[in-house]
Amino acid sequence: MALDVESIRSQFPILQRTLPNGKKLVYFDNAATSQKPLAVIDAMSDFYKNYHANAHRANHTLADESTAALEGARDRISKFFGTSESQMIYTGSATEAMNLVAYGWARYNLSEGDVVVTTEMEHHANIVPWQELSKERGIELRYVPVDTEKFTLDYDAMEVAVEGASLVCVGHVSNVLGVRNDIERVIQMARSQGARIAIDSAQGAPHEKIKFDDLGADFLSVAAHKMAGPTGIGCLLVSEEALSEMGPFLTGGSIVKRVSLEDTLFQEGYAMFETGTPRMAEAIGWRVAVDWLEENVDFEEAHEHVQKIASWMASRMREIPGITVFGYPEREEAIGVVSFLHDTIQAQDLGYLLDAGGFAVRTGHHCAQPLMEAMGVGSTNRASVWIYNTMEEAEAFVSHLESIVSRFS
Ligand code: PMP
Repeated sequence: MALDVESIRSQFPILQRTLPNGKKLVYFDNAATSQKPLAVIDAMSDFYKNYHANAHRANHTLADESTAALEGARDRISKFFGTSESQMIYTGSATEAMNLVAYGWARYNLSEGDVVVTTEMEHHANIVPWQELSKERGIELRYVPVDTEKFTLDYDAMEVAVEGASLVCVGHVSNVLGVRNDIERVIQMARSQGARIAIDSAQGAPHEKIKFDDLGADFLSVAAHKMAGPTGIGCLLVSEEALSEMGPFLTGGSIVKRVSLEDTLFQEGYAMFETGTPRMAEAIGWRVAVDWLEENVDFEEAHEHVQKIASWMASRMREIPGITVFGYPEREEAIGVVSFLHDTIQAQDLGYLLDAGGFAVRTGHHCAQPLMEAMGVGSTNRASVWIYNTMEEAEAFVSHLESIVSRFS
C-alpha cells in the first residue's frame, strides 16, 4: 500500500504557504529540519494554555498534570524507539546527546591511550566532542575514511581501526549523501572488540523504525525536530550496561537527591542527566509527533516513497549540463538526500535562484567539513525529501533547475 501523501500534506499547515514573491513553497530542506503537523502544534499550545507548570517540583494540580505529561511522553517515545523509559534521557538536541556520550560516559571510562573510532563521514556533532576529549584526556582518535568512489564507509579500514578500540561512534545515515551505513555490521565489529558503540541517528530515525533493544548499540542519538517533532528536544537512548557506567554531565538542580555545602548525592538512571527545568512542552509535542507518525506513516512505505522521488531527481539532475550529483541517491537503501553542485553557478547563488522559484534547499558544508574535504568541495546544494513531498514537486524542481542552468551558466 502506498503512503497517503495527500492526507499527510493536508495536516502540515506550512505546506500551504505562499512565499513573499508569490511562489508556492516547495520544502526540500527536510534533512535540516522537518515541518510539523497541526496535531503537534496544537498539543504544545494546549499545554501552555491549560496545564503549563514546572514538572517534578510542586504538588498542585497543574504541576501533577505537567509531570504526568512529561513522563507519559518518555514512556511513549521510548516504546516507539523499541526500548523502555528507563533507557531514555531527554536532551536538548542530537548534538547534546552525543556530548552526553562524551562527557557522561567517555570522560568517566576512558583515559590516556584508549581508542575512540569515528569516521570521516560524520556530522560535526560526532567529531568535535571526540576531538575535545582527545585533547583533554590523551585519547587516541581514529577516523575511518570514506571510499569516495563508492561513497560508502571503507569497511575494510574500519575492521582495522576498531582493533583495540574502547568506543566506536558512527552515523546511521549521512546528512550530506543520504548513505545508509551498515550499522549492524559496525555494531558487530565493535562488539567483537568489546568496545561500546554509539550511533548518531539524527538522520536515520526520521526514515527507519528504530528498534533500540534489538539493535545492540550502547548509545543512539535522535533529534525530534527532524521527525515531525518540535525543536529544542532530542534524546539519548542508552543500554542498561552503559547507563550503569555513566556519571553526571551538566550539573545543578533536578538531578540531585541531596546537596550539602560539602557534597552532592545524585539521582540515578536517566534522572542523573536531565538538569534544570525539564522540556515539558517539547516532550508533549514530541509524544504527539510519535503518535502521529504511528497513525499516518508506515516506515517501509515512506522509505519507498522518499527513495523513489530522490532517485528520480538525482538521475534527471545528472543529465543537466554542469550539474554534479554526489553519491548515489539512486541506491535502494539511500535515504532521500540529493547533494549537488553546478560547475560555474556558485552554490549560494544557486540556493537563491532556487528560492526565487519557491524551492527551499540547504546550501553550505552541512556541518560535515571533513567529508566535504574528502569529496574535494567546500559546499554543496542539498535537496532532501520527506514523507509529504510529491513527484510533482520533484518535477517542478528539476524543471526550474534546468531553466536556471540554461539562463545563467
Ligand atoms: N548528526 C547528523 C547526521 C545531523 O544531520 C545533525 C543535524 N544536521 C545532527 C547530528 C545534529 O542535530 P541537532 O542540530 O538537532 O543537534
